[in-house]
Amino acid sequence: MILVGARTDTANTLQTFKAVADNAFTRSILKALSKNCVKDNGNRLEVALELYVGIRNDACVSCRLSRTVLSPILKFACRGFGISEQEMKAKFQDVHWRRALVSVIKGIAWFGVRRPYVPAAPFQVVWNITDACNLNCLHCYESAGAKGQDELTTDEAIRGIDILADEGVLILAFSGGEPTIRPDILQLVKHASDRGLFTAVATNAVTFALRKRVKEFKIAGLKFAQVSLDGLNPRTHDSFRGVPGAFAKTVQGIKNCVAEGLFVEIATTATRYNISEVSGLIDFAAELGVDWFMLYNFIPTGRGADIADADLSPDEREDVLRLCWNRMKAAGVDVLSTAPQYARIVQEIEASAPFINNCETDAAGAQGTERATVMPTHFYNPRLSGQLRQLADFVGGCGAGGFYICVEPNGDIYPCVFFPHEATMKVGNLLKDDFEQIWRHSKLFWEIRDKDNLRENCGSCKHRYTCGGCRARAYSYFKDVLAPDPGCVRNKDAWQRIQLNVKARK
Ligand code: SF4
Ligand code: SF4
Repeated sequence: MILVGARTDTANTLQTFKAVADNAFTRSILKALSKNCVKDNGNRLEVALELYVGIRNDACVSCRLSRTVLSPILKFACRGFGISEQEMKAKFQDVHWRRALVSVIKGIAWFGVRRPYVPAAPFQVVWNITDACNLNCLHCYESAGAKGQDELTTDEAIRGIDILADEGVLILAFSGGEPTIRPDILQLVKHASDRGLFTAVATNAVTFALRKRVKEFKIAGLKFAQVSLDGLNPRTHDSFRGVPGAFAKTVQGIKNCVAEGLFVEIATTATRYNISEVSGLIDFAAELGVDWFMLYNFIPTGRGADIADADLSPDEREDVLRLCWNRMKAAGVDVLSTAPQYARIVQEIEASAPFINNCETDAAGAQGTERATVMPTHFYNPRLSGQLRQLADFVGGCGAGGFYICVEPNGDIYPCVFFPHEATMKVGNLLKDDFEQIWRHSKLFWEIRDKDNLRENCGSCKHRYTCGGCRARAYSYFKDVLAPDPGCVRNKDAWQRIQLNVKARK
């Protein structure tokens, strides 16, 4: 009920916003505002925002004029989304939020107000910075092990970071392989951080078992550590990761990251091998004091293709995602998932039993949790206040090629780390091609950004904007990026087709 009421209000707000922002006149003004200013050495919008929040006192005439134009637009946005101007100004003290807004406004100037929304640059880039790895995981999407022959040199990688920063990317996550064993990784993290990127690593944390190593990353500017942990039972984790003793080192690494004050996420890939341990893992994550527990969708790509029979059925995925959301209400950790169906499931649960806010008590006397409001992955969060919650329709669902992209060790660009390294899935190269042209014109990106393009149930599903199915799973199973995601209970016929094919091959 609450969701339906908010939807009507939001529809009005967003319609008004679309009418104001999505016309040729406004977009031509926004285009002019988005240009770079030589005198103030930066993007004119960024300078205007610095003036607006009071970080800077002076600027050239054009940038001051931009501030005058921007100010009423921001006031309108505050009213529309039910937050005070003071709250907005406090948010924009942070450089990452300012860059996000610049990307949003530039995105409107270039592409209009779309659903899902497309910013002027990906919010997040996951860069598989090396194929070298110190473990040998069964499900590795990168089939990692030895260092690749064509990995970028330090100078080339730094040039790549500069391109991403100049284009307005907000978050750079180094992944692999195991990024922390690349000899120059500290230099790359520092450079990215110095260039204003929010810097993260996706790691197995074996090297982080030494606290000194975590400290070095923190000093270099690392903010966020995503650590893979695939079992509560050490035997489950170690057999998945292919190295005995990995569990103990990884857990020590997590403890060290928490102790150093990094934002820490435990990432667990859900398969038939470990599904019974998920509930215990959520408790363990809370006990360790991490910020997020992330349930990763299994995708049969890379070495994962060899264990496709470990994939969950649609019903199993539905059950474990329901468990995740229901457990979050009592657990001391935010529980997220890369399975885009999580958004639909949460909406369904909340439509019948809305989430209890902090310190509220429901009719049955159950106490709400003290967890801070989060924006779960794939951008759906029913706890967002009022109309902000409906932004999920604009920024939700599978973000491949729309909010996020992947860069490979040699600079090749793909929509998502889980897309296979096939020529038709590669959209260009970070150093050899023009990044802006790729972002604005890649045929593959536009194909998967448009959720109305999707086939069968995903295309007609009312949740396609907040979910849209995992495009990497669709491609891995059907060699078609627009195919239905066979991991959803609404696509059981697609799952059945896969099972029949498997039987026929045996
Ligand atoms: S049918 Fe597709 S879009 Fe709808 S919930 Fe399932 S996976 Fe998501
Ligand atoms: S393809 Fe989309 S849903 Fe799947 S993992 Fe990548 S970003 Fe997430």
